[in-house]
Amino acid sequence: MGETKVIFLDIDGTLIGDDYSPEPARNIIMWLKDNGFEIVFNSSKTWAEQEYYRKALNIRSPFIVENGSAIYVPEDYFPFEISAPRRKSYYVLEFGERYHKIKSILEGISEEFGLKYYGNSTIKEIMSFTGLPKKLAMLAMIREYSETVFQWNNEGFISVLELNDLRVSKGSRFFNIHGRVDKGKAALVLISLYQKIGRVRTYAVGDAPNDFPLLDVVDNPYLVGHLTHPRAKNINSIEELREVVL
Ligand code: MG
Repeated sequence: MGETKVIFLDIDGTLIGDDYSPEPARNIIMWLKDNGFEIVFNSSKTWAEQEYYRKALNIRSPFIVENGSAIYVPEDYFPFEISAPRRKSYYVLEFGERYHKIKSILEGISEEFGLKYYGNSTIKEIMSFTGLPKKLAMLAMIREYSETVFQWNNEGFISVLELNDLRVSKGSRFFNIHGRVDKGKAALVLISLYQKIGRVRTYAVGDAPNDFPLLDVVDNPYLVGHLTHPRAKNINSIEELREVVL
């Protein structure tokens, strides 16, 4: 068997724009599939949100949710069994902290730091903070391992959360609160599964600091926009992959 090409894609700010529509991503996803890439979402989005984009774009490969908190592997994807609990038709490899624990720590400090996050916001507030349409806002509310802080009065909450053994990372728009996980650690676990079936060449595209641990661990890292990463090649948009990736 030849080499498997695996490309990890951030979603917000990388694959989709401010209107959260999957439509602009259709062409580049088709192009990647036609060129033999396995497309792995690696996003701070939840399982339910990523399922929406996977269905819309007809993607059947594994995916990494909530900033590296868990990997969902379709149970018929690899030609071997995985020792992990199953949920629905997936093996779920979990690395993250439980949502209820994160939420209860946030509840204790939300007043002091003026925090607004999914767990203390109404659906109307969530739609206004994020710009998500109602249907996607409801999917984002089904959280398993992380929170997203939309609003704060000072950044002192970050060190308080770190003292509580949580980690705070900066996504395209907001802060993500999660356990001791990152997109890169989860990607390495999934890469080791691909390596069981043969040689693997890895790629990743992101746009924000929470993508940096992922860009650190792949063979070919790409960064959309103007941040700089020591190894990643900057591109203006994900469409530019066509010119640089082959
Ligand atoms: Mg992003």
